[in-house]
Amino acid sequence: MRIGIVSLLHESNTFVSQQTDLSHFEADVLLEGDAVRERFDGSRHELGGFLAALRAAGVEAVPIFSARAVPWGVIASSAWRELLQRIDKGLDRAGKLDGLLVAAHGATVSEPAPDADGQLLAQLRKRLATPTPIVCTLDPHANLSPAMIQATTAIIGYRTNPHVDQLERGLEAADLICRTLRGEIRPVHAAAYPPMAINIECQNTSEQPARWLVERARALQQSPRVLAVTVLLGFPYADVEELGTSIVVVTDDDRELAQQTADGLALELWNRRHAFATLPISMDKAVAEVGKQAGPACLLDVGDNVGGGGHGDSTHLAHALIAGGVSNCLICLVDPESASQAYAAGVGKRLGLSLGGKAAPSSGPPLVAEYEVVSTSDGRFSDSEVRHGGFLHFNQGPTAMVRAVSGLTAVVISRRTPPFSLGQLTSCGADPRQFEGVVAKGVHAPVAAYREVCQRLIRVNTPGVTAADMTSLVFHRRRRPMFPFEKEMTWCPDKPQ
Ligand SMILES: [Zn+2]
Repeated sequence: MRIGIVSLLHESNTFVSQQTDLSHFEADVLLEGDAVRERFDGSRHELGGFLAALRAAGVEAVPIFSARAVPWGVIASSAWRELLQRIDKGLDRAGKLDGLLVAAHGATVSEPAPDADGQLLAQLRKRLATPTPIVCTLDPHANLSPAMIQATTAIIGYRTNPHVDQLERGLEAADLICRTLRGEIRPVHAAAYPPMAINIECQNTSEQPARWLVERARALQQSPRVLAVTVLLGFPYADVEELGTSIVVVTDDDRELAQQTADGLALELWNRRHAFATLPISMDKAVAEVGKQAGPACLLDVGDNVGGGGHGDSTHLAHALIAGGVSNCLICLVDPESASQAYAAGVGKRLGLSLGGKAAPSSGPPLVAEYEVVSTSDGRFSDSEVRHGGFLHFNQGPTAMVRAVSGLTAVVISRRTPPFSLGQLTSCGADPRQFEGVVAKGVHAPVAAYREVCQRLIRVNTPGVTAADMTSLVFHRRRRPMFPFEKEMTWCPDKPQ
């Protein structure tokens, strides 16, 4: 048996005005054929899981294509066409396949296809007609579409946020396709799409209310004939028709049971919807909390969440910390211009810099001051721990740690790199334990790393393209009515609005 492997992962923030092009994929992952195996075999990514499970089952894995870029704006037309063409050519080269494992994101938006994942999966289904199984893994930030369900045999999403179970879901998906091909099971699936979107603040699966939701899904999965229950929390920063939360249930040859189970959990969620719409605390309140405990407090900059498309150069929290009298604080900022100036000046030198606040109007005013260059690095580092996204190696480009008289220390990096690893700071010599306040530009993803060094993690309601309050963003394409935008609406799965 031969099973193909295709992966295309991008979380596209339609509120970011800059588009994602091929160079953004080249900077992260853009691989074909055996290079995919070389990069991901042994990793904690779902592709690592696919490869390991197929090997254990004695099935030939045929890696075809893998692309990933750091979350950013919509994928440009030319890049999208190129990606689809490369996948098509890869399938030509792959020869006859008995099945296909796909690692998609589910919140990918391209200029010509707002439901980009749906288009990709439909193209794959065109090439591999039913009953050839296509099993797809998704990120729980997926905004699921009926086209994605239509084109696939089964969908399995990660169950954790931060995403630390990608390897396990890859193993599970590959096991499912192997059992299908051996004739042991006949997976079918169905989805429910309650008209609601879950606020990013409420999407941490180890905290309530999301923990309740994933525990309910796990309990439902114990029923006989139910093979997998996935909660797709949704990605709030995509102005697409599919925006929202959904439930996917895979059963062994019982579509009605799949639909009933999905509808049932969707209704339970709907009945608790108000618990999923709370907002983080204000900047002033957050700053007032810093210093109330012995060690550092981590302020999570929700509005400038790099892993959700944020520019990573917003200065609002740094200004608030300085204004609030917190003199010993640390922030990482994406600012290639300042990084290069400080890097070139060298350690021990002083220079005037205008830090951050450049990428978008929502980034806030730059931090203008005289800074001393404390250390520099080439920006490359690795993390051996399980981190959000299964990332191991990072390259944030030329990096400089600089300190102002105010006490503000900034690690200034050249390439947008999400704060998934403390290596972002420590590789340049910054020790987060030495600070009172540490700013991390994320919501849940940084937690896996930062909770090791910060006594408190405080999510803060900051402005930006990933603002916590979805209702503050202007949507044109989403379904209407939809919670929490239209708060007073009613819904039940049998009588869709
Ligand atoms: Zn995600």
